[in-house]
Amino acid sequence: MFDLILANGTVYDGTGTPGVIQDVGIRGEKIQVLGDLSTADAARRIDVGGKAVAPGFIDVHTHHNNEMDGGIVNIPDASNYLRQGVTTCVGGNCGGGAFPIGAHLEQVSGLEIRNNYAILVGCNAARNRVLREERPATAEELRQMCDLVRTGFDEGAIGLSSGVAYMPFLTVDELAAMSGVAADFGSFYASHIRNEGERLHESIAEVIEVCRRSGAAGEISHIKCYGRDNWGKSVQALELIHQARDQGLDVTADQYPYTGCFTGLAGSVFGQETQIRARRHGGLEALLSVPELRQAAEAHFHQRLATLDDGAGIILAPLEPQPEFQGKTLAEYLAEHPGDPFRTTVELCAGGHVSAIYLAMCEDDVVTYMRDDHVLVASDGHLRVFDKGCSHPRNFGTFPRVLARYVREQAVLTLEQAINKMTAMPAHRLGLRHRGRIAPGMVADITVFAPATVQDHATFREGNAYATGIDLVLLAGSIALQDDTPAARGYGRVLRRGEG
Ligand SMILES: [Zn+2]
Repeated sequence: MFDLILANGTVYDGTGTPGVIQDVGIRGEKIQVLGDLSTADAARRIDVGGKAVAPGFIDVHTHHNNEMDGGIVNIPDASNYLRQGVTTCVGGNCGGGAFPIGAHLEQVSGLEIRNNYAILVGCNAARNRVLREERPATAEELRQMCDLVRTGFDEGAIGLSSGVAYMPFLTVDELAAMSGVAADFGSFYASHIRNEGERLHESIAEVIEVCRRSGAAGEISHIKCYGRDNWGKSVQALELIHQARDQGLDVTADQYPYTGCFTGLAGSVFGQETQIRARRHGGLEALLSVPELRQAAEAHFHQRLATLDDGAGIILAPLEPQPEFQGKTLAEYLAEHPGDPFRTTVELCAGGHVSAIYLAMCEDDVVTYMRDDHVLVASDGHLRVFDKGCSHPRNFGTFPRVLARYVREQAVLTLEQAINKMTAMPAHRLGLRHRGRIAPGMVADITVFAPATVQDHATFREGNAYATGIDLVLLAGSIALQDDTPAARGYGRVLRRGEG
């Protein structure tokens, strides 16, 4: 007697092998049997004929821990990931934030969440707890940072992350020491690398160096080629990863399937260091009043706008609703506000935090990365409430977009390859032993979708749009979503190290 049988679907087990038409028998939280179950007893039987039955999608790179913009603590019931077929999300990327890890996971455990949730411990967060100065850490400080990372793993973190592009600009010695702790736990080091544009290759080499010195596996986060002058560097970037793998290092990368990235406007157009120094002077207005800050910021501003089509490649996407400018390009905004563009942009940013999408990548690089066997799918996104503020489309569309655009329309990937990049590959990266594959004994996290019609609808101008064609999502055997409609309650759970 089964609790649930998914009948007649084409089962993709997640390993990259082609689909097989068969039934899936589920008892309790687990997949029990695969095969012909047409005469078996079941409390419930759902016919999924013509549909793809895949392991639930696993997103190794989210910012769901980030409370300022789309955090799981504030909006635990946001369903923009469940509605993409995602069953497990990993927060704490790009250097982390949630600390202490144990208290954070305890808090999330008490919430009714839509997806399983796991977290990385952050190098930047650990360093900021020990010292806030911009200088290399002393040996004693380094020991304290490593102790904090170790505590994070002990309390349930499933990996280590760094935001090397961000202040306080960690050194390779610091990163290698903390990654050594990850290696002690048999875990991995994920890196938002130092530079994704002109120094892309050196920055990837740096991750590989950290892995070589520490023994940790490596994950290059949201891999891209930023800026027109750097388009085409994806080929050599992948060669560096292949060379490292040939030398026995378990280095992979993840990407989101879009040519636009997302971050705060002020840091991007004025320079991150300069905007932080301005805030130390009392606010962004200091970019207008302090000559040396103004000089640095203005030069950065004009250079950045030149690489982004004079602001036409910057789409304003504030987190709070701002009808007067959300969804407009910076170029459109500046045309509506004649005067000095630099001053106008400073005033815009000084009025409140403004985020934006930057159309800084090209389609060829997205496809080149996607074709590679060692690049998996991840969103780099946030939980979002549907009718509040603007969104990068990745928050609503990443996984369906790969299935629609890159599998069905362009045949960049086969369906089984795409599913592999969303399931077994990320499960391997994260060390999840009970998820990411459809096989007897595995936890019944399952996503059923229609390959012929699954479709993302979110765009750069209209990011808040749910995907369609996700027919059924199971979390540990419970129906979490059916026919694009989430269940009345959430079935997600916290996955601590060793539990997933
Ligand atoms: Zn990042």
